[in-house]
Amino acid sequence: MACNGLCKTREIIMKKIYLNILALLFISGCSENIEVEYDVEFPQKKTYEWRLVTAWPKNYPGLGMAPERIANLVEEMSDGQMKITVYGAGEQVPAFGVFDAVSSGSHQMGHSGGYFWKGKAPAAQFFTGVPFGLTADEINAWTNRGGGLELWREVYAPFNIYPIPAGNTGTQMFGWFNKEINSLDDIKGLKMRIPGIGGEVLKRAGGIPVTLPGGELFTALQTGVIDATEWVGPYNDLTFGFQQAAKYYYYPGWHEPGSMLELLINQDEWNALPKHLKVIIETAAKAVNQDILDEYTARNNKALRELVDVHGVELRKLPDDVIAEFKVIATDILEENAAKDETVSKVYQSYKKFKEEVSAYHKVSEDAFVEARND
Ligand code: CA
Repeated sequence: MACNGLCKTREIIMKKIYLNILALLFISGCSENIEVEYDVEFPQKKTYEWRLVTAWPKNYPGLGMAPERIANLVEEMSDGQMKITVYGAGEQVPAFGVFDAVSSGSHQMGHSGGYFWKGKAPAAQFFTGVPFGLTADEINAWTNRGGGLELWREVYAPFNIYPIPAGNTGTQMFGWFNKEINSLDDIKGLKMRIPGIGGEVLKRAGGIPVTLPGGELFTALQTGVIDATEWVGPYNDLTFGFQQAAKYYYYPGWHEPGSMLELLINQDEWNALPKHLKVIIETAAKAVNQDILDEYTARNNKALRELVDVHGVELRKLPDDVIAEFKVIATDILEENAAKDETVSKVYQSYKKFKEEVSAYHKVSEDAFVEARND
């Protein structure tokens, strides 16, 4: 007779009883030779097959590989109990449909950047990064050890989403331009793809910010639909071929000092997972969060040399007075946004306090050291 669930439970109980008898015999020093034949099949572990949608092209180097690596690690660490299939932007949902897909539960998981969702949750931007904000190490520290993660989960809770940090690009570049930026006047009327608060800063400085997914940027730049675009940094920008569509490559990436990526999980699906799978997912994401940053740090410098030496790209520093003005505007916008929204204010206060404290320390540690080393 086939053994149903109840029968399996009974077998497990019987096995426990048998083991207890053996233990008692051992403890009591009983030397009687008792033979008990026992054969039991353990119930099969429930398996999970999840779908993960991303805001990135499939297998895109760096950030696009974060969900792939998480999926591989989870499958290996769970010994196949959990299998996650990763879909690139547009395969199942558009790049900017990831948040809604996870929120609604049509997909269990997503991978993206929080600042894409500023229209839904304005405070989400802090969990990617804000202009003149925290670097990669600093945002990791704020998130994991400074109260940021708790705030992030509070911000996403109304959307039924459980977020986990999952990758970081490091400090980005300001981006690709077809005209020189010599003063603030050159920003006026500039149509640039730049998301998040960086876009708001550009707008207040007289520019026209545009939000487009990565896959559309090359064509938009080449055809003149936009005058400029930021994307990530040399490693990623080289793969998109921006060097064929724009002449100047400007730094620093004041708008994205250390952008953190996010693994999104539908809260109901997360709640229903056994604890060990939750630990596996959190651990895999934590490993990949660091791994992606390491990859960027290792590859960016090589890619920059190739862009300049092989492709003849003109590397330019944004004029100091333009950076200074962007900084003033960015601070104004952050303060104004905080005054308009209680949740934004709560997150901003935490972020700001952490930034002030960590900046003061880094001034006499990392910043001072790097200055001394590079001089
Ligand atoms: Ca960017």
